[in-house]
Amino acid sequence: ALPRYYANACVDKPESYYDYTNFELSWGPMDYYEVVQKIGRGKYSEVFDGVNTLNNQKCVIKILKPIKLEKMQREIKILQTLYGGKNIIKLYDMAQDDVSEVTALVFERVNHTDHKVLYKQFKDFDIRYYIYEVLLGLDYCHSLGIMHRDIKPHNIMIDHEQRQLRIIDWGLAEYYIPGKEYNVRVASRYYKGPELLVDDRLYNYSLDMWSLGCTMANMMFQRDPMFKGVDNDDQLIKIVEICGIDGLMDYLKTYKLEINRYHQKHLKNWEKVSWEEFITKKNKHLVTKEALDFLEKCLQYDREKRIMPQEAIEHEYFAPVIEYKKKIHGGG
Ligand code: ATP
Repeated sequence: ALPRYYANACVDKPESYYDYTNFELSWGPMDYYEVVQKIGRGKYSEVFDGVNTLNNQKCVIKILKPIKLEKMQREIKILQTLYGGKNIIKLYDMAQDDVSEVTALVFERVNHTDHKVLYKQFKDFDIRYYIYEVLLGLDYCHSLGIMHRDIKPHNIMIDHEQRQLRIIDWGLAEYYIPGKEYNVRVASRYYKGPELLVDDRLYNYSLDMWSLGCTMANMMFQRDPMFKGVDNDDQLIKIVEICGIDGLMDYLKTYKLEINRYHQKHLKNWEKVSWEEFITKKNKHLVTKEALDFLEKCLQYDREKRIMPQEAIEHEYFAPVIEYKKKIHGGG
């Protein structure tokens, strides 16, 4: 069946909206950007702090390694489509040096603290607040027919001082078309949904909700990561050891999916572990019954049963966030 929300977001629009292969890239000059220092690197890029010397605006300069034109077209078209959306990183400019042919994307800069440091400082309310902010960003991109497909702590930039959050790295994002089969080699291992691990290629936006569940578990249980597989096959094992075999079997049956030989051999009759068992002295101030209820609704094997952003923001777990926002914006 189709996703409950935004199933036709793309196909209701002209083909040029989602067919990025005909999208023409127009590069500006690189001259007035100055690189300040390296702040990160990914598979596909090196990332620098920088400044636009025309207006002295700080920015982040992502210098792209040689990648397929189509991948570049997809990322840039998506970033332009999402420009200005709630909690979506802004692509300011795209630049190319005509001599070296180096290409770079220029982004708004977030004064981010590494999640390994930041998550340790979080209070219960901070987790509710930031997960809520990610949900707003996800609802926005899903409403435009786009799935992020790489949600994880590294791709959620947080400026805790300003309580500002941005979803970055749209390099694996893709347009959702009903009935289309997608590549399952997306997302980072620990955040991969079961659909990716059992080759269920008809997945949709709800993939992002599994990854968000893993991210939330990471914050709340102070367990980094929640499911730590040594490879993709082992990743499913790590999930089933905690989420149980019954849910997996029901999911496989519903969609007539088969498991590979490795899983036939290594999956055992594990019972679902109750989330309460992950409560420790170190994290008990972060865990509530509403939090566990919400987590459970994200970490459903069956991609159709997962809670979606629009439903999630109504969950009682986020009631204090809505209250807080009313107070600071509500003029009361
Ligand atoms: P990956 O291999 O994870 O897909 P990538 O090559 O697509 O990476 P990004 O994930 O976009 O690159 O960026 C790499 C790193 O640079 C991020 O994890 C982050 O630490 C930093 N970074 C990227 N964009 C920003 C930004 N706008 N503000 C602050 N830091 C950023």
